Amino acid sequence: MLPPDFESLGIADSVLKAVKQLGYEQPSPIQAQSIPILLNGENLLGVAQTGTGKTGAFALPLLSRLNSDQKTPQVLVLTPTRELAIQVAEAFQTYARHLKKFHVLPIYGGQDMSTQLRGLKRGAQVIVGTPGRILDHIRRRSLVLNQLNALVLDEADEMLRMGFIDDVETILAETPDACQRALFSATMPPTIRRVVKKYLGDAKEVSIVSKTKTVERITQFYLTVKGHQKMEALTRILEVEEFDGMLIFVRTKSATLEVAEKLAARGFSAAALNGDLSQILRERTVNRLKKGQVDIVVATDVAARGLDVERISHVINYDIPYDNEAYVHRIGRTGRAGRDGKAILFVAPKESRLLYSIEKSTNQKITLMRLPTGDQVSGQRIQQFQERVLQSLNAKDLERFKGILHKLCEDNAISISDIAAGLASQLQQERPLFPDMPSLDTTFNDRQTHAKPNRSRPERSEKFKKRVDSGKNRSSNSGIAMVTYRIEVGKNQGVMPKDIVGAIASESGIEGQNIGRIKLHDEHSTVELPEGMPNDIFQHLKHKVRVKQQPMRLSLDGPGGPAKESAGKRRPKNSPNL
Ligand code: AMP
Repeated sequence: MLPPDFESLGIADSVLKAVKQLGYEQPSPIQAQSIPILLNGENLLGVAQTGTGKTGAFALPLLSRLNSDQKTPQVLVLTPTRELAIQVAEAFQTYARHLKKFHVLPIYGGQDMSTQLRGLKRGAQVIVGTPGRILDHIRRRSLVLNQLNALVLDEADEMLRMGFIDDVETILAETPDACQRALFSATMPPTIRRVVKKYLGDAKEVSIVSKTKTVERITQFYLTVKGHQKMEALTRILEVEEFDGMLIFVRTKSATLEVAEKLAARGFSAAALNGDLSQILRERTVNRLKKGQVDIVVATDVAARGLDVERISHVINYDIPYDNEAYVHRIGRTGRAGRDGKAILFVAPKESRLLYSIEKSTNQKITLMRLPTGDQVSGQRIQQFQERVLQSLNAKDLERFKGILHKLCEDNAISISDIAAGLASQLQQERPLFPDMPSLDTTFNDRQTHAKPNRSRPERSEKFKKRVDSGKNRSSNSGIAMVTYRIEVGKNQGVMPKDIVGAIASESGIEGQNIGRIKLHDEHSTVELPEGMPNDIFQHLKHKVRVKQQPMRLSLDGPGGPAKESAGKRRPKNSPNL
């Protein structure tokens, strides 16, 4: 059965227009299942992770039901981190671009209170925020939820892990009884189940089921790469991989064109294949691929459905698929007719959960692939250059060229190799033999960082986190050496351990489980954090991060009260990397 299209799901025309402009070809599985339920006003429990299109799954129907005349908050989305709050608010803004007088407001800890108060006063139909700060506004009465129509808990298991669950429950209790509720979570620990039972009642449950499939003839690799670096990574792979035909999967119709055009501009023979093209044009493109008139086809899932071309030796998942079935279908386009195939999956740091779930469902390991280095690209180009030169020796009229060149040597007292080098450099102007490759950030390109995925944490914490995450016993701190830090907030400021865990986890990227013992004193507290914290994280926590509206002012705990920055240097074993 074909999946439904956006038109048949019943979302409002203005929202549909935005979706079309974004180039979304079809709803992702979680969207196809969730949108009708939410449009119908029912409660929803969605078991899905980041990268499945879950933001659209709730934003599209809730925007469709918005009352544009009502200025007070109608939809509240709770997220575990400020990065996710911003991301979700941006998604709402994008999907609502044709809605008149629409306002969405992100609200999170660490941001200036007066900006938020101004925003709330101006009025916003959709509020997206982290639980602690949302609760602060509810208590100040700057956020009133009595007209709320819908509440979404996004990444509920992350909120639980970061110690926000009490705040979430307090907020849930503040929402009107008739308010529609949706909860999304990648996993379903018992506490979340309890919250669902208590506050979501007879919610309809949707989940991205994973069927086990095996794809033996295909070797599978993944590469962790950030969105804006994908094209550079792809180009390098294309330069060094030996492939016959290649299929590259992207998520949107516009991306098929964009990627194919960029590849063509870089000298590769590439064409786009998407649902906007007529049947005839699509068949023509597939035929060109079959005949070797084009080597690379950039396609969406819909356009490549059932594609059977023997010479496809490689499938590249430029954008990760929404679910395991789509993955299996995609990579099954290679390894046809008894041949071997290779599949390469690009995974953005925040999509690591999907990688795990794909591995589980295919019962196969996906191996980490190292991005080709500048030297490898250079080596490949030199080899191709040599082949090209040797081939050119078969050309006609070589004797006459030799005559010209010998004269050039004599007239200018230069050697024939000088001339050859000059010509070679000119020939390779577009593809230099010794290219200056931009450095790509692959510090997170390691399975350890996938072991416990964390959403878009600040870049500076990646290396540190990688090391911390790879501690022997990750569920407790026993495998990681810890250092005691002091913060200038304590019982008198009403601070609780979960506030400290929440602030540190969301601002530093250190997982809540890697934050050690916390002791509360009257005017300060101490907290154990993994050894070797990089200076930029330390400085950030010291100068920028607040707990309960108070600057945290992190310092090393030592004799004589708050440590000076240099204190770290005196304690080589325990110090942060200052
Ligand atoms: P999410 O799981 O909500 O974080 O979404 C992951 C990514 O998929 C985002 O970049 C969305 O813009 C994109 N996306 C969501 N729904 C669709 C769709 N139906 N078609 C293509 N891309 C989509």
